[in-house]
Amino acid sequence: MKSYGYGFPRLGKNREHKRVIENYWRGGLTEEEMLHSIDSLEETRLARYKSSVDIFPVGEMTLYCLMLDTAIMVGLYPKKGVNDYFALCRGEGALKLRKWFNTNYHYLVPDFRGFSPERFRLNWNKPKEELEKQQGIPYLIGPFTFLKLSTGIPEEKFGDYFFSLIGIYKEIIKGLREVHIDEPAFVFDLSKKEIEIIKEGYRQLNGKIYLFTYYEGVDFLKSLYDLPIEGLGLDLIDGKKNLRIIEEYGFPEDKYLIAGIVNGRNVWKTDIRETKELIEHLYKFTEKMMLSNSSPLYHLPITVKGEELDEALLSRLAFAEERLDELRMLATDTYPADYGVYKEEIGLDMGIRERVSALTEDSFKRETPYQIRQTIQKRVLGLPLFPVTTIGSFPQTKEIRGKRRDWTKDKIGEKEYSSFIKEKIRELIRLEEELGLDVLVHGEFERTDMVEFFAKKLGGIATTKNGWIISYGTRGYRPPIIYADVKRETPMTVDEITYAQSRTSKPVKAILTGPVTIIAWSFIREDMAIRDVAYQIALSLQDEVSDLEKANIKIVQIDEPAFREMTPIKRRDWDDYFNWAINSFRLAGRAKPATQLHTHMCYSDFGEILDQILKMDFDVISIEASRSRGELIDSFRESGFDRGIGLGVWDIHSPIVPSNEAMKGVIERAMKFIPRQNIWINPDCGLKTRNWKEVKESIRNMVDMAKEMRSHLSLSENT
Ligand code: GLN
Ligand code: ZN
Repeated sequence: MKSYGYGFPRLGKNREHKRVIENYWRGGLTEEEMLHSIDSLEETRLARYKSSVDIFPVGEMTLYCLMLDTAIMVGLYPKKGVNDYFALCRGEGALKLRKWFNTNYHYLVPDFRGFSPERFRLNWNKPKEELEKQQGIPYLIGPFTFLKLSTGIPEEKFGDYFFSLIGIYKEIIKGLREVHIDEPAFVFDLSKKEIEIIKEGYRQLNGKIYLFTYYEGVDFLKSLYDLPIEGLGLDLIDGKKNLRIIEEYGFPEDKYLIAGIVNGRNVWKTDIRETKELIEHLYKFTEKMMLSNSSPLYHLPITVKGEELDEALLSRLAFAEERLDELRMLATDTYPADYGVYKEEIGLDMGIRERVSALTEDSFKRETPYQIRQTIQKRVLGLPLFPVTTIGSFPQTKEIRGKRRDWTKDKIGEKEYSSFIKEKIRELIRLEEELGLDVLVHGEFERTDMVEFFAKKLGGIATTKNGWIISYGTRGYRPPIIYADVKRETPMTVDEITYAQSRTSKPVKAILTGPVTIIAWSFIREDMAIRDVAYQIALSLQDEVSDLEKANIKIVQIDEPAFREMTPIKRRDWDDYFNWAINSFRLAGRAKPATQLHTHMCYSDFGEILDQILKMDFDVISIEASRSRGELIDSFRESGFDRGIGLGVWDIHSPIVPSNEAMKGVIERAMKFIPRQNIWINPDCGLKTRNWKEVKESIRNMVDMAKEMRSHLSLSENT
């Protein structure tokens, strides 16, 4: 049987992709040197395919984003020099970034405003160019996925754009012997009309097409059976529905089933025996089969080689290279007898398991209803109207990162590092008081990353040395691996936060990362239901909250920026997700009535999930409101929203210091339908990536604006 691998990570074993391109940005490499290095990185990447699988695409490499490459290819943006290309990726005129499906990868969103469908043209034949350099099947993002993920196309005009674009794809494909097309957007909940145009469009494309879908099943899979394509790649791990459709309707004789049977999104070795059975089973429906990964391999780090993890854990892991090896083993039917089979469980903790199984409906409820809590908290906290606060992190300077590096490399001791952090906290508290903030934070200086920090402290979660995966462009992150029962071994944040509180009489808000976000940005175990994993994490956080309360902390914020991104692709799975996601938040945040519970979410489309968010039973939520100029607030209009709401009046992803007018605009808009005593003022996210100068100026402006509004209101109320 043949094996077909795709989506192998582009970042390079030592993150060469990042190093080369960022070095070019800094002027350390010429354009020619940079492009040459990227070409040789691509050669190495393709060599990895060649040594394991029979078939693979060519052209998956990009300087920044394949969606942008596609947009240029078809004439949405002009094909100019490398610097013009990068100008669309970063800086002032850059395209917006958006999360790719339900993953933590982000793509640049092509913007069709002002571009009419007749303007498509073949600007750049990228596949042809790639083929001249290397052999493989030319890679394309499919026309439907490309348009569906773009912005600025009016719904009723979608077909016009689509068919016009099909014309361009015809032109591209004409010169190619065969082509690999990715259409992951086929797994969305699509309308009848969309399905019709897909069928019609693909009927017009003729060529030897290998069409791939992934991340979920394709509900209208049967409709794809009639298309003139050579092979159909299906996710059989996250898309169980695909299997059910094949069982019910069979599979067309004239096509290859490219069975996605090794996991592209999680790190556990494939259970070869079980997978062999699945392959046998599939043979009942088709004889034309190839084996593949279930989704692109770039959601995995490159290799487990070189990781210094506990042997029991390490022996269970397979990253991208190991996945390709698994494909070879399965295709050639040669593998160690015990591969991927384990008898003993690791990191079993009966204590936490018992706590989870003892949970009852009441475990997810706070003792006191919100209205009463609100009164108590008002008295305890004594905050002014429009309290001003921040989201948690303050600039992580070179100095801080340097110290942390010295500490992890044992160049400085624990003592020196922790007194350095305390010094930073002390300075920050002084500054926050001086700037006039109402609720202070400790600054998160001790945290590299909001998930990795907790992962390192919690039992049952491992972190890797070199397990980078791509986040967007040249940026990557290292997802922790939740491999066993999660438990809190010691307090995680109490030391720093109580120290901060000891330096001020204003309330210090403790910042924790919530269970959904920890799960979303980690690899998770598969031998336990995600709900139970979430509850285990939530109970650890609950213990942390309780310790913070004992230490006299009055405000706790549980960040859940990944709450929206974790929602399943299919609507039908939403209820189940929201049930455990909300419950885990409530479990973690089961604080005393006097403790004010905050949450923070950023850059997501809350409108349609607002009802769910409300069920989280927090006291205050902080959200983005600056980029959308408060549009987001409009979704709160009809919801009967009665909680505190922190309006992010300052877009922290931009170096621009927000003006008084712009901020006021947002607040005034909100005051139309949110009672003013519920309104808080804050930036729209953490300040980790900003510089001190911008931070000071912007906070000063926020505080001034709040003061102005307070006095303005009290004046008008007196007259
Ligand atoms: N508390 C975190 C911070 O300030 C929140 C980050 C986030 O929402 N992504 O950095
Ligand atoms: Zn945020």
